[in-house]
Amino acid sequence: MKIEALEFCIIGGGIGGLAAALALQKRGAQVTVLEQAHELTEMGAGLQISANGMAVLHALGVVDPETDQGQKSHGTVLRDYRNGRIISRVPAPSAGPTFYFHRADLLSLLSSAAKNAGVDIRLGARVTNVRKHPNEAEISLSDGTRKRVECAIAADGGRSEIRPILNGTEAPVFTHQIAWRATIPWSDRCEKPMATLTMGPGRHVVNYPLRNQSMMNLVAVEERSDWREEGWRLRGDPGDLRKRFADFSGPVGEILAGVQDVHLWALFLRPVAQKWQNGRVAILGDAAHPTLPFMAQGACLALEDAWVLGRSFDEQSGVKSALAAYEATRLNRARKVVAAARANARNFHLKGPARIAAQSILTIAGPHLARRYDWIYDYDPTV
Ligand SMILES: Cc1cc2nc3c(=O)[nH]c(=O)nc-3n(C[C@H](O)[C@H](O)[C@H](O)COP(=O)(O)OP(=O)(O)OC[C@H]3O[C@@H](n4cnc5c(N)ncnc54)[C@H](O)[C@@H]3O)c2cc1C
Repeated sequence: MKIEALEFCIIGGGIGGLAAALALQKRGAQVTVLEQAHELTEMGAGLQISANGMAVLHALGVVDPETDQGQKSHGTVLRDYRNGRIISRVPAPSAGPTFYFHRADLLSLLSSAAKNAGVDIRLGARVTNVRKHPNEAEISLSDGTRKRVECAIAADGGRSEIRPILNGTEAPVFTHQIAWRATIPWSDRCEKPMATLTMGPGRHVVNYPLRNQSMMNLVAVEERSDWREEGWRLRGDPGDLRKRFADFSGPVGEILAGVQDVHLWALFLRPVAQKWQNGRVAILGDAAHPTLPFMAQGACLALEDAWVLGRSFDEQSGVKSALAAYEATRLNRARKVVAAARANARNFHLKGPARIAAQSILTIAGPHLARRYDWIYDYDPTV
């Protein structure tokens, strides 16, 4: 069956859902995005999109390779928390630079591209259930309406309510990691902007510039056991943030001092899903593979998923075989990247002698460190 004859519903208008909608619509499908929120917004925070994710944004025509709209990165500086001492400088990966985007900007680029391609984006459309029929997927919405399409893709995030339909109930588990996120106005310009990773026992801070260096994005992560709520977007107290990272000095101290408004993410995870599709319904992005943010790959993986999903419909002759090919191509890659991010949770937060030993290794090996993750960044799903 030709893709032009197929109607798709994408559940969720985040980065994964919009990219998937675009990848399918550009191939000739008729795509509707159902997003529960009443507007497409993202909180003020940054996203690092590495070469593997940028390849998809270029191939989808979302970002022009000649005039990349994000902030180009020249690598990462690793610092020690106590005095801000530089432990190492990790150059940009050989696959190409990472770009720093304001989330709202990337979402807006994706939604404009999707709309221009003809995707129908419906806001305030909350999906409550999806049922598989022999040749269709039936989608139920909270307003009582139903819609039948040839294929439904759930890109409804880390707490996906559609994923259990394929995988049974798996409650997200608290990882004992809390991420504080903020952006602050910034005026220092440097010729070669870089991210900074400041590491301390049980905590780390990542900061990088956004929007032509007019803003600094901050993610401060701490290990904590005393969390009871599964909040995704809780407002935090900047004073509390400063207290918890009071012993972090060096440049990061100045950034922490400037925080006026901060949000807290308690990091909950489910494992990478065993089953990604049932022949009519598939999951994509965080719904399929929620990850800790310590490789900055969650959105990049969602972009890769989107491209591979679209391509699977080029290469296969029916919905069932296309979804099976999509799952087969993506599963191991997602598992490996998610495991790498989990390992970094340990590496960033080392204590005592292990920390000192790791710093010595980083000082020597830092410039070559990016190569360790070449397999992540070199992967270009579009070729
Ligand atoms: C602290 C932190 C830092 C990060 N930094 C990076 C980074 O630098 N680089 C990177 O690549 N990744 C990063 N990530 C990960 C990245 O944010 C996610 O992987 C990515 O946003 C997932 O996109 P998604 O489209 O799968 O899901 P989401 O962005 O969660 O979107 C899901 C959408 O589905 C909608 N929805 C949910 N349920 C329903 C329903 N029932 N009906 C209709 N709509 C529904 C939601 O409203 C939402 O719009 C970070 C994550 C965190 C927590």
